[in-house]
Amino acid sequence: MSETSWQECEACGRTTDEFSSATRCTDCGGLLSLHHPTPDLTGPALRDRFDARHGVRGSAAELSGVWRFRELVLPSAGAAIISQPEGNTPLLQRESLSDWCGVAGLFLKHEGHNPTGSFKDRGMTVAVTQAKRIGATAIACASTGNTSASLAAYAALAGLPGLTFVPEGQVALGKLTQTLAYGAQTLLVDGDFDACLRLAKEASEQLGVYLVNSINPFRIEGQKTIVLELLQQLAWQAPDWIVLPAGNLGNVAAFGKALAEALALGLIDHCPRLAAVQAQGASPFAAAFARGFDHMEPVAAETIATAIRIGAPASYDRGVRAIRTTAGVVTSVSDDEILEAKITIDRAGVGCEPASAASLAGVRQLRHRGMISGSERVVAILTGHLLKDPGILQTIHQSSGSASHLGNKPIRIPPTIEAVRRVLFASIW
Ligand SMILES: *Cc1c(COP(=O)(O)O)cnc(C)c1O
Repeated sequence: MSETSWQECEACGRTTDEFSSATRCTDCGGLLSLHHPTPDLTGPALRDRFDARHGVRGSAAELSGVWRFRELVLPSAGAAIISQPEGNTPLLQRESLSDWCGVAGLFLKHEGHNPTGSFKDRGMTVAVTQAKRIGATAIACASTGNTSASLAAYAALAGLPGLTFVPEGQVALGKLTQTLAYGAQTLLVDGDFDACLRLAKEASEQLGVYLVNSINPFRIEGQKTIVLELLQQLAWQAPDWIVLPAGNLGNVAAFGKALAEALALGLIDHCPRLAAVQAQGASPFAAAFARGFDHMEPVAAETIATAIRIGAPASYDRGVRAIRTTAGVVTSVSDDEILEAKITIDRAGVGCEPASAASLAGVRQLRHRGMISGSERVVAILTGHLLKDPGILQTIHQSSGSASHLGNKPIRIPPTIEAVRRVLFASIW
């Protein structure tokens, strides 16, 4: 049995050790995945070990909701770990949201509670740890905003220069300003996300910077812990469904890998079904699913959910595998449905960014279609924080545009108690 982890090409099967810095197969260009030595414990004993680590005091790595599962993430990382910490996000239940989508057993895993406000931190802690271990001189990514914000924060923590490529005019304000504030070099590219990804790949090949996009296999290992942590929060009683928004399909791939490993190691006794939800204007994965996954047809992506505004998902093959191995489904929802779900989630006092709301819109649609039954247990992933996209909030609540009838307008008053009294009587009594 190998003592360290190794990387394997998903297309040709070529293996390299865990310290190879290539983020694609150097023979065939295929995507790489990480494999770890089998842990010394499995089943209930491994669950007990994970449970015993929960809530302990200690270093950032010991507090982290990613590194708690280190045997399944990167067992050899040890003292090299770069952690904020991250993870430990809440699993919420809200009656109003259960009612809205017709599923009493609905849970919301809120990844917006991560240090930079999205699930990207779970992958970034592992990718940046690895960047330090292999002696990278700089790290780079293409991003619709959340990956760049996360990269910037972890680059600052690790003392590494960070370089981000973002599509000009297509990144939510909170994410762009966050990336600048943490100090990463930010390149506004005159092109869409798919153009940014091409450029980031070329930069990594020709300029030697380490690429930490979601094709990076170390990111996938960290993002698996969204699933491991929610299973732990459910006392390892696997739900029937896990529903998540899908853009570049890194997360769908990570969820599929986590579930396959959890089942193989006896952490759970049945596999939840994955439901990946795309925005209708950016739904090449859903279209391919409807055709039996014959092939992926790239699209010119357009949606208000900028985090999933991706026309040619880089992890398509991995995404297909994840859906197949979990007997999963892929669907799409309209921007209006996303907006309605977002406003409903916000009003529940939970809040999320638009892309995240695609998951709840998807639950509701799958429930109406009879795919999900009212008695099943469903975990919907909220991928990012409400404050990521202040622009859409202004459009809903402070403008007179098309969505404004759903808004909660501020009320302008003169500075008198009479004016306050008038407002109170009009709205409450
Ligand atoms: C990155 C991101 C997604 C999409 O994840 P993929 O791995 O690209 O499919 C969804 N929602 C938010 C908020 C994100 O930041």
